[in-house]
Amino acid sequence: MATKHFTQAVYEQVLSRNPGEAEFHQAVKEVLDSLEPVLEKHPEYVEAKILDRLVEPERQIIFRVPWQDDSGTFQVNRAFRIEFNSALGPYKGGIRLHPSVYIGIIKFLGFEQVLKNSLTGLMMGGGKGGSDFDPKGKSDSEIMRFCQSFMTELCRHIGPDTDVPAGDIGTGGREIGFMFGQYKRIRNEFTGVLTGKGLDWGGSLVRTEATGYGLVYIVDELLKDNKKSFKDMTVSISGSGNVAIFATEKVQQLGGKVVTLSDSNGYIHDPDGIKLDTVKQIKLVERKRIKEYVKIHKNATYTEGCSGIWNVKCDIALPCATQNELDKAGAEALVKNGCIAAGEGANMPTTPEAVEVFQSNDVWFLPGKAANAGGVAVSGLEMAQNSQRIPWTFEKADAELKSIMVTIYKNISEAAKEYDCPNDFVAGANIAGFIKVANTMLAQGLV
Ligand code: NDP
Repeated sequence: MATKHFTQAVYEQVLSRNPGEAEFHQAVKEVLDSLEPVLEKHPEYVEAKILDRLVEPERQIIFRVPWQDDSGTFQVNRAFRIEFNSALGPYKGGIRLHPSVYIGIIKFLGFEQVLKNSLTGLMMGGGKGGSDFDPKGKSDSEIMRFCQSFMTELCRHIGPDTDVPAGDIGTGGREIGFMFGQYKRIRNEFTGVLTGKGLDWGGSLVRTEATGYGLVYIVDELLKDNKKSFKDMTVSISGSGNVAIFATEKVQQLGGKVVTLSDSNGYIHDPDGIKLDTVKQIKLVERKRIKEYVKIHKNATYTEGCSGIWNVKCDIALPCATQNELDKAGAEALVKNGCIAAGEGANMPTTPEAVEVFQSNDVWFLPGKAANAGGVAVSGLEMAQNSQRIPWTFEKADAELKSIMVTIYKNISEAAKEYDCPNDFVAGANIAGFIKVANTMLAQGLV
């Protein structure tokens, strides 16, 4: 059977087994397309049906989350935990709380997570979870009641050596705290079952900053490899959550100027450079909308709607909000305005058509599974610290994060060169992440 035919058959099986799960189909297709040459070289992967196994989660848990709102009304949400692949270690991946969540989104994220975690070089399998619960506008008590009910079911399926969830969209330190408390109470054990914990009770320094900082470290490595740096670069960032805020902080520390941020309602453009203290106050302390920024900084403008953000002229684009937020038109606008590099802070924020525009115009493009791996990498470091019961200093965790991101860049660029597609970091990331998982699955037998 020709290799092309083989990946096509796997993809068709994914479509028929997982109907209506567009994001999962998109993520699988991108990976399968880049693995063609790997399968040519390694017939043993084909024979052992590694791809067929890779696209089928080991376990899928779907459950009801009943909770009561502040008015006393009963509410019911649906939740998921997809335990995708444990070849390299306990399932590891975040929990997304957002009304758009359904099984197709959680599967796409879990699938990506398998290869991402492999790239970090740490011993972590891949998984993802979440619920269609909308945390926006809920009181702290409502969030607590939801998180406790969610964990009442989830605690049967997770554990420090089994499955270690973390944060994602809508799940920050507050939610992790409520979930951890409930797990501890039901299981009567204090373990590193969740990452992103508070610093006083097992969290790691740098975990909060890790995804944003890691993104900037890997883009910086790419720039250095091409004799450039962030200094005096104009950078456009989308989102204004955890990833966007700390990507902005690190770009500014390296001498770049960030000129945009957004939320799901619209974007701000500050030609003088975003004032991060204002953004932190609005988003992290007051939990308000990003448009509040322009009331304070009069040179800045706010535009309703998100897609126009990529029309703002910049040298580097870092989409850090959500999936498929940067489309073909956005990529074309960036190319026209002289953008030289794009790095995905979010998971799959760039549509396949937009990636094609970047690659055919020689814009360096770093995909999320490599570029945003810093978050899960420091989660892995948090697990190590929990096992040792010794917290690391900020400097030690930050140095380790930087070293992991530099190594990821080296590994994905070498894989791209080895398979005759230099600078195709999408292929490089898929190939480097896959080979380690595939070899491990071969070694572990038919599991
Ligand atoms: P947050 O919830 O902290 O922030 C998400 C941001 O994206 C918010 O500003 C949100 O705005 C905005 N947003 C959400 N949906 C849309 C939309 N449809 N259009 C425009 N903006 C939108 O999440 P994180 O920063 O943690 O995560 C952002 C991305 O990074 C996600 O794709 C996540 O999976 C990925 N990621 C996160 C990691 C982490 O460590 N946190 C690790 C690796 C990847 P609003 O407030 O209006 O909803």
